[in-house]
Amino acid sequence: MARPWDQVSPKDYRRSQDTLLRQSLLQMQLAHVPTARARLQAVGLDARNFKGLEELNKVPTATRAEVLDPVRNPEGARGLILQGTAEGVRRFSDRATLRRVAAARLLGGEDVQALAIEAASRPIHQHVAFGPGGPIPIAYTRDDLDLFARAGARLATLTGIDREDRLLNLIPFGPTLDFWGVFYMAHGVGMSAVHTRREGGDIVRALAAFDASRPTAIAIPADEVQEFPEAARNAGLDLSEINTVLAVGRSLTKAEREQLGEALVSAGATEARIGAAYGPAEGRLLWGECAIPVGKTETFGFHTYPDLEFVEVLAPDTGTPLPEQTPGEITVTPLGFRGGGVPRWRSGDLALGGITTQACPNCGRTVPRVGPSVRRNAWQRRARLNGRAVRFDFRYAAVSTVPRALEFQVELVDADQEGKLFVYIRPRTEDPTLLIDLFEELERWGTPPSQIVVAGEVELRQRLDATEGLFRRFAER
Ligand SMILES: [Zn+2]
Repeated sequence: MARPWDQVSPKDYRRSQDTLLRQSLLQMQLAHVPTARARLQAVGLDARNFKGLEELNKVPTATRAEVLDPVRNPEGARGLILQGTAEGVRRFSDRATLRRVAAARLLGGEDVQALAIEAASRPIHQHVAFGPGGPIPIAYTRDDLDLFARAGARLATLTGIDREDRLLNLIPFGPTLDFWGVFYMAHGVGMSAVHTRREGGDIVRALAAFDASRPTAIAIPADEVQEFPEAARNAGLDLSEINTVLAVGRSLTKAEREQLGEALVSAGATEARIGAAYGPAEGRLLWGECAIPVGKTETFGFHTYPDLEFVEVLAPDTGTPLPEQTPGEITVTPLGFRGGGVPRWRSGDLALGGITTQACPNCGRTVPRVGPSVRRNAWQRRARLNGRAVRFDFRYAAVSTVPRALEFQVELVDADQEGKLFVYIRPRTEDPTLLIDLFEELERWGTPPSQIVVAGEVELRQRLDATEGLFRRFAER
């Protein structure tokens, strides 16, 4: 019998990831997702000859700038959604899907087979990630939703929730991974859940459903965890039956865990656990921390699903992979999902401890773990630039600069007031059109540099040496 998803050795899941990755690229390129197809074709990559992880560096990474800049991607955001056909399913599916389609025909004839094909080829659910350049759709086929629910069941198990629990979901309902991730967690594990909170609605109002639903588990935005105990106390709620509080969006700090833990204990929930769930907004799944009892404050990172996503941590300034346990940008490639997406999506989220494939010291699971802490949109700033309000992200400036530079630094100056953006660059060639193209690309993206400064090797070295922080090609003053 196959081993459970969380007990496969890193060596073995690497091997199956090779196959899954090849299959996923084949599906994106040929079956097809327009933007993914165009991007693979642009680098001359034919998924039919792709070997697996060893060739992953040939696959271009992607950020919002590449998929929403109309010159780089004329298809726009819609190009991230599968334009599926029956032909695509027949020719480019993995064996399990083909078997399902063939069995449908044997058991139910052509009509049932058509439904099976549709389950694999038609996106029927989307959530949306808002951000610079516009919304990014994350589309799922019916088969993909089954994977979403499978990951949800795992998330519940990780965090110590089971189907006997009753969930009060305080994540506002909206087109977000956070909301749908919790929804599919409840669906996947088969637990009763009440989703009570409107988008923009406050927590006090959403708690009005507490008594009627008698929850044993609460899902709540991580940023509001500190308000929860007081809101519950003011509403006179009995928290003694709570056995899990799941913070969604990031891990909790030591202080937040202490404060929440004390509040739960003093309310009589002495056996409760505090968990956290998080996934990149443009990703397809929520990952979870394994369960930690109240009173304890250490955490062991977000446990990922190696059969559903390939996770990398990259340097946000250059896009190159970093060694394990090195802070960097969380980057995901969906595995087995058909509804859309592109490989190697750079999330813009920082994993402070990077990624590790060491077995978890708390639960013993052997899956890759990310974190322990993550920071969403770590390189994004609400800034003024040349007097205009923008959402500036250092990475997008770097994405335009890297291919043209031997070395560079992006500097944001006085972003609260007038706001200036400088790109210091040692260009790859002396051709002046390189600098013009760089300016125009950044201008199209809404963040034209105040000045592009051609700098020598020594000057750039001095600049980088004089800059504080983890990623010295990003400077602020
Ligand atoms: Zn663990």
